[in-house]
Amino acid sequence: LVSSVSCSFSTVSPPATIGILGGGQLGRMLAIAAAQYGLKTHVYAPQEDSPAFDVCAAYTCATYEDQTALATFAQQVDVITYEFENIPVTTLEYLLSLNDAPVYPSLKALRITQDRLLEKEFLHSLDIPLAPFVEVNSLAQLEAGLAKIGTPAILKTRRFGYDGKGQVKISRPDAAAEAFADLKNTPACLEGFVPFIREISVVAARGRDGSFMPYDAAENVHQNHILHTTHIPAKLSDAAEQHAREITQKIAEHLDYVGVLAVEFFVLEGDGSETVLVNEIAPRVHNSGHWSVEGSETSQFQQHIRAVCGWVLGSAARRGDIVFTNLIGDEALDLEKFLTQKGTYLHLYGKSEVRSGRKMGHVTQVLPFSSTRAQDA
Ligand code: AMP
Repeated sequence: LVSSVSCSFSTVSPPATIGILGGGQLGRMLAIAAAQYGLKTHVYAPQEDSPAFDVCAAYTCATYEDQTALATFAQQVDVITYEFENIPVTTLEYLLSLNDAPVYPSLKALRITQDRLLEKEFLHSLDIPLAPFVEVNSLAQLEAGLAKIGTPAILKTRRFGYDGKGQVKISRPDAAAEAFADLKNTPACLEGFVPFIREISVVAARGRDGSFMPYDAAENVHQNHILHTTHIPAKLSDAAEQHAREITQKIAEHLDYVGVLAVEFFVLEGDGSETVLVNEIAPRVHNSGHWSVEGSETSQFQQHIRAVCGWVLGSAARRGDIVFTNLIGDEALDLEKFLTQKGTYLHLYGKSEVRSGRKMGHVTQVLPFSSTRAQDA
């Protein structure tokens, strides 16, 4: 008698297939983690050269509007997830209407987090601290917003912004018209400029049963608006880190979230203590959590797979202090030094074309606990 592999806590068991919407490096690393657990993946993405296509059992290359392809995909998988917050809401609604496979994270999480204004309204409704903001659909609204919020301020498109794209800083009230034109009159959101001392993120998982497992806060340094380096532990007071974790849990609970999410925060200093303000929510595994593959007992990718399959979450304990670096553009060309350094783990995403500003891979260093940060010097 042949019995299939199963665990009492699982609702999706090997050799089931996980459907992943989105085929970038996040989908690629999710597929690798799923394979480690004996699960297959079927990746659905519109781009022919999607990095995740190289490492999955099956893929569909079709648009997110192609209902025939979506229906076939849904029939072939046991659970559906996404690695990219700009999947159209209508795609998820359609997949849910087919009733072939459950979809995690929730439709609510996708709908809110892909629209900056809805996200800020959601956070505000939960009394979560964030920068002042106003909706901007016209130059008149922008001018009124600047009068209310003051300058400097940042105008950001409501949708499709990432890595600093779709945003413009406004330093003086008379620069409003130029800024509005820069964003091509797209529906936007104006937010107050935050004089932060540091940026951090909390990556965490929430299971189907509501269990919550945060990783230690990551301290993030951006270059040209793109994440460049992450250090853990973050330079952050215990109270501020605890607050950031509580906020992340509250957000996850109110989104009925299942899977890994990340919340990015600004850290402010005042009266001798640190406070945190939410910058944005990512409804997916996150760049500032890639270190967890080697640096934690359970990686964020394994954790996400566990969560969407209804498995118990793993320990998020760290294996050491972490220095994580993205390889952006031609930084990925000189590999020799990463291949020879002790305690250094190299990942490349299989992207054939090197472009400036493109994330090509990353390097994680796992150092002894509480080592001094040589990189800070
Ligand atoms: P975002 O795409 O909104 O995460 O913004 C990218 C980066 O721009 C952030 O990581 C910050 O470094 C900077 N930034 C965004 N919003 C603000 C703000 N309100 N005040 C100061 N800096 C900001």
